[in-house]
Amino acid sequence: MQRRSTRLVKIGDVPVGAGHPISIQSMTNTRTSDAAATLAQISELRSAGCEIIRVAVPDREAVQALPEIIAGAEMPVVADIHFDHHLAIAAARAGVQALRINPGNIGGREKVRQVVRVCREQGIPIRIGVNSGSLEKDLKPEKELKRGDAAKKEIRMAEALVASAARHIKYLTAENFQDIIVSLKSSSVTETLEANRLFAEGFDYPLHIGITEAGAGRSGEIKSAAGIAALLSQGLGDTVRVSLTAPPVEEVQVAYEILASLGLRRRPGNLEIISCPTCGRTEINLERIAREVRQALEQRASDPAAQPLTVAVMGCAVNGPGEAARADIGIAGGKKSGVIFRQGKVVKKVPEEELVSALLAEINKMECE
Ligand code: SF4
Repeated sequence: MQRRSTRLVKIGDVPVGAGHPISIQSMTNTRTSDAAATLAQISELRSAGCEIIRVAVPDREAVQALPEIIAGAEMPVVADIHFDHHLAIAAARAGVQALRINPGNIGGREKVRQVVRVCREQGIPIRIGVNSGSLEKDLKPEKELKRGDAAKKEIRMAEALVASAARHIKYLTAENFQDIIVSLKSSSVTETLEANRLFAEGFDYPLHIGITEAGAGRSGEIKSAAGIAALLSQGLGDTVRVSLTAPPVEEVQVAYEILASLGLRRRPGNLEIISCPTCGRTEINLERIAREVRQALEQRASDPAAQPLTVAVMGCAVNGPGEAARADIGIAGGKKSGVIFRQGKVVKKVPEEELVSALLAEINKMECE
């Protein structure tokens, strides 16, 4: 997959852009002023593979907690600031490795300029986070939105998002500041795609991608996957945040699943389970077996020393091993029984009730070889 060529920006020790691996980030949902709770969540996120963490900084108490959070986070900390440029300046001076501001609500050009000066002093980048929900008034395409058809609405909003980003890039570059990452987000997948595509035509700053406010559960995951995968398949995106109404650790898990499904990144221990949808040929309880295999292997997936593993759980021996040839190991069902196969070749046949334990034993054996 050909990736867009961009400038290199570093968030702490994590390189973003210029062909570096697409980094995965998330955002805490604890009170940032509660450093202990925030660090506990960051620790959980780190175990899941999160590489950059963003914390909301809504008040002075949050700023005061930043030094302790930064010291304990073991990954770069990005301060997320809205409305108050004094908080942005204080967070930068507290030692965060990047700021995320929405210049549209930070209070005008002079205030943005003051924030930029402190970021340059501190040697940290700024992410310009443009969001369809908080566009500057003069850029909101409201009249057109009321009149236009759906396609025109998307284009107008995408253009407005890019215009907002361009305006704020100009503020920053006027101060000779180039350490910029940009995000253009909408809760509409198509608006987000169009905005990022348009932006990439005119700028080479790295892109932070995601679908904002994607929602909860399956619909949030699908919406995020559709949008993020479509962007990545066009070579757009240098760092990813999946936004879900869910525990933040799920955002990281979903982000890895999206990157792994596109062959872009797999985390150590990454587990991919290929399982067939079942059909009239299926003669074993494949749904139960797939669930048990996943449960049994999830612990392994969180082990940073484990190698990536692709396991196939297929309903029949006629098509199973062939369809799952790219799996490392797998099961193919038969009549109340099944075979264990490795790299597409049958290893042994076992009764249905022994399939999961035989598969796990074969995985252990394979990893000891
Ligand atoms: S692998 Fe076999 S059981 Fe599963 S969907 Fe394909 S043909 Fe049907």
